[in-house]
Parts: sequence; C-alpha cells; structure tokens
Amino acid sequence: MGRYDGRIALVTGAARGIGYAIAQRFAQEGARVAVVDLDPEAAKKAAAALPGADHPRTSHLGIGCDVSDSAAVEAAVEKVVSDLGGIHVLVNNAGITRDNLLFKMTDEDWDLVMNVHLKGAFLMTRAAQKHFVAQKFGKILNLSSVSALGNRGQANYSAAKMGIQGFTRTLGIELGPFGVNANAIAPGFIATDMTDATAARLGLPVEEFRKLSGESNPVRRVGYPEDIAATAAFLCSDEASYITGQTLYVDGGATLD
Ligand code: NAP
Repeated sequence: MGRYDGRIALVTGAARGIGYAIAQRFAQEGARVAVVDLDPEAAKKAAAALPGADHPRTSHLGIGCDVSDSAAVEAAVEKVVSDLGGIHVLVNNAGITRDNLLFKMTDEDWDLVMNVHLKGAFLMTRAAQKHFVAQKFGKILNLSSVSALGNRGQANYSAAKMGIQGFTRTLGIELGPFGVNANAIAPGFIATDMTDATAARLGLPVEEFRKLSGESNPVRRVGYPEDIAATAAFLCSDEASYITGQTLYVDGGATLD
C-alpha cells in the first residue's frame, strides 16, 4: 500500500526540475499524476516516464497549459477530472525568473513573474477547489522560496514568493472547514535548470556555483529536487492533515542566521 494509492495529483511545471521530482515521488507512492507544463510534448514525455506509466490502471497524463491563462487552466483541470477520474492534490510549482536590479527591471519582467507564480497559483487553485470542496477533501501545495525574505536582483520574484505565503495562509483559513489543507514549501538552493541559468547569468561554471552555494549553508550541500519531493509527499499526505497554512523552509538551514 502506498500513501497515494487511489489519489490523483496535478503538478504544474512538472516536465522537469522540482515539479518532475514531485510527480515522480507521488507516482512511486501510488498516485496517478497529471503533468502540466507549457510545452505539451514535454509534459506528455514526462508523464510517460513516470513509475506506473506502462499500465492503463496506473498511467499518467501530460497536458500543455500556461498556468497564467484562465481558460487554459479551467480546461486543464476539467481534463484531469474527466480523463483520470478526479483530483485530490494540486501542486503549484510552475515558475520562472526574470532577475534584474530594480532600476533595470522592466514592466514585462514584473508582470511575467507575477503572472506565472501568483496569478497561476490563484487560477489553478480556484479551478481545483470546486472539486475539493464538493468532495470534502483536497491537498494544495504551493512553491515559495527563501527569496521571499528578500534577494538582490529579485524584487519581482521575491514579492511573488512572499505573496504565495500570504495566499497559502488565506487558503488554510478559507478551505480548512471543507477538509482541504494548503501549505507551502520555501526551498533554498536546489540544483535545477533554474539555478544553472543563474550560474550562467553570473558567469560562473555550474559546478562552482553549486559548490559555493552549498558551502554557504549549515548543512554544507546544495539541495536536490528529491529533497523537495520528499517534503511534498509528506505535506500532501494524510499524515499531515493537522498542518495547514504553513510555509516550511527546506533550505539546509540557509535562513537560520
Ligand atoms: P525549472 O527547472 O525552471 O522548471 C520550471 C518548469 O515550469 C519548467 O518546466 C517550465 O516550462 C514550467 N513553466 C514555466 N512557466 C510556466 C507556465 N506559465 N505554465 C506552465 N508551466 C510553466 O524550475 P525549478 O528550479 O524546478 O523550480 C520549480 C519551482 O520551485 C518554481 O516555482 C521555483 O520558483 C521554485 N523554487 C526553485 C528553487 C531552486 O533553487 N531551483 C528555489 C526556490 C524555489 P518551460 O521549460 O517550458 O519553461
């Protein structure tokens, strides 16, 4: 018996990185997963590579969807419900960065980051909660970041990620009475394409950037997508049903001092 047997989970931005690791972990523990990502082919390919994909009873679904597009989000959630037979878990993970110092940050840099992280989480959650409230069961997990606490060059991203924490607290208050838990994870440095792109922007080789980042926290290593996936699997499980509205920092202790 897996903790996720019979559960259907929708994970956004799950074609790669942290989202894919969460999808993989849920599938390993028995869930059927809808991999939602911008590129439909990448989403389908990722879904086809998940554990259980080779059996019709445990297979998964890949859907192309821009999480900041209201109509596309409504359609994606309804497709998950009709094709997989319901929805029990939503992970708002899709994300982008458009880093720049404030005086160089454009309107587009601001709007894009707000739209993907904040509006995307809002649209997805509003579409999924209809089903969660009707069935008196649901788990919502939002991806925040240590950058929520402030980070040079990330005024847009930092504001969005702190916004995610307020959004999560409000979901906890509004949806708790309907059997729905909402929590957030704030990862520290996680080795993915997103942080590799930061290394490139800083002109540092990826391995050196990871080494320097790892050395700067108490645990003395960088995080990996699997670290976030393990936390996600706990927070969206029945074992965490008394936890709601919380943001858990999974950062090797980076924010302790
Ligand atoms: P990643 O490797 O860049 O993957 C992000 C995924 O989201 C990509 O597959 C991307 O698709 C997809 N995506 C982007 N915009 C989208 C949209 N509008 N609609 C649907 N999907 C979209 O990022 P990651 O490092 O795994 O990060 C995942 C989440 O964790 C993000 O919310 C990020 O802010 C957060 N986080 C990451 C770190 C870290 O150190 N990596 C730290 C703290 C928080 P494309 O490939 O087509 O662009």
